Amino acid sequence: MVPEKFIRKVMDVVGTDDVIHSSRVTEVYSTDASPFYGRTAAVIRPENENEVSEILKLANEFSVSVVPRGGGSGTSGGAVPKDAVVIDMKKMDRIEVFPDDMIVFVEAGAILHDIKNALSRYGLFLPPEPGSLKIATAGGFVANNGSGKRGLKYGGIRNFVVGMNVVLPDGKAVRMPSRTHRSPGIAHQIFTGSEGTLGVITGIYFRVIPLPEEKRTYLIHLKKRDNLNRILREVLKATPDAVEYMDSRTSSAIGFEPFDLLAVEILGKDRCAEKIMERLGGHVLEGRDEEDFWESRETLGAEIAKKGTRVYAGEDFAVPFSRLNEFIGQIYRIERETDSEIFIYGHLDTCNLHPAIVSKSFENAMETARRISRMALDMGATIGEHGLALRWEFARGLEIFRRVKYCLDRRNILNPGKFGI
Ligand SMILES: Cc1cc2nc3c(=O)[nH]c(=O)nc-3n(C[C@H](O)[C@H](O)[C@H](O)COP(=O)(O)OP(=O)(O)OC[C@H]3O[C@@H](n4cnc5c(N)ncnc54)[C@H](O)[C@@H]3O)c2cc1C
Repeated sequence: MVPEKFIRKVMDVVGTDDVIHSSRVTEVYSTDASPFYGRTAAVIRPENENEVSEILKLANEFSVSVVPRGGGSGTSGGAVPKDAVVIDMKKMDRIEVFPDDMIVFVEAGAILHDIKNALSRYGLFLPPEPGSLKIATAGGFVANNGSGKRGLKYGGIRNFVVGMNVVLPDGKAVRMPSRTHRSPGIAHQIFTGSEGTLGVITGIYFRVIPLPEEKRTYLIHLKKRDNLNRILREVLKATPDAVEYMDSRTSSAIGFEPFDLLAVEILGKDRCAEKIMERLGGHVLEGRDEEDFWESRETLGAEIAKKGTRVYAGEDFAVPFSRLNEFIGQIYRIERETDSEIFIYGHLDTCNLHPAIVSKSFENAMETARRISRMALDMGATIGEHGLALRWEFARGLEIFRRVKYCLDRRNILNPGKFGI
């Protein structure tokens, strides 16, 4: 139970309107996009770093657990509280672009899509882009070490974080600013991928790069799925910026012909890449057609959810390249055995697949997810980019992580229960 006195003191810090008790609201905050559920004692909405710091100091004084939350789009239960208060970071959404340094500073609650728009006004962009661009916050994306499109060429979001402001579990605020593209980043990098367990990220400095003057997307229809590995290898020779895959069911769900397809994005003019695309029968999308395609890709998750009970579980796997075809085949086997419907898509430049499960019931969807996860573990696959929080069976090196956690958060105030801690 969270003491009444703690709540009253927090109200003194953030104001009564920004501490929410109503069960209608706390219920929404008791889950994220995952199928996991917890209990939220109250939702607190700070407006600045100082308020975050005071909340954590009070949480220590009263031994109250705290869970930081961004857009709540995580699919591994990272923002699911275990009888805790939730700090909703979305009021902290300032975005400041330093165009001459090609750096953007954002408060942690800024939505990725807003950051994209702010940067494009200066002819700049941040390459990693998740399918959840319109709902995910910068803080949640960094805390999950997310990635999305363009992972092979640019890496995940970790590669773009050059500085950070963070409040430690005891309430101490630490600032690590950067206006440079390289930075001695040991300290801030600890928080990238820490899934809200080591500190509350309040601000992030990202390095960004110029938007290319030209870009193209090629669609390659795959007549036979057996050829996927071979064709992918050919596509990668073109050093593409992004390679997105959709199986035939997924491509028809968003209005394309029912073929498996690869969407290959090439930024800038590259004659060699064009030749490879022509050889592979790539069909060029430009202008409005290209924009429409990528918009459909962003809303894919929502379109699939209209087909039945869609459960975001067992749906993010980084697969060894050599086992790609076999992995897809195994998913269809599990689909047949569990009588569910699975839409497979993903970021194939990093062999990161998202089998989206649609089923007639929640229980059946969960059983399908469990079987896919077991199969993935057997094949040496792991979680790709959606976080490990309540799915730590895929984690490696947990012993080291536990020691770091113990150093920074001896009382386990921040996001307890994640990674089994
Ligand atoms: C339709 C759909 C598509 C998706 N596509 C992708 C994709 O392509 N690539 C990808 O990487 N992910 C994807 N995801 C997963 C998810 O959107 C990302 O992990 C996203 O980065 C989470 O951001 P969020 O703001 O919603 O975080 P939340 O879900 O709110 O939180 C995620 C984790 O971060 C912690 N956290 C949040 N804010 C802070 C903070 N300020 N300080 C410290 N910790 C914090 C939370 O405690 C939690 O552990 C997708 C999800 C959906 C539903």
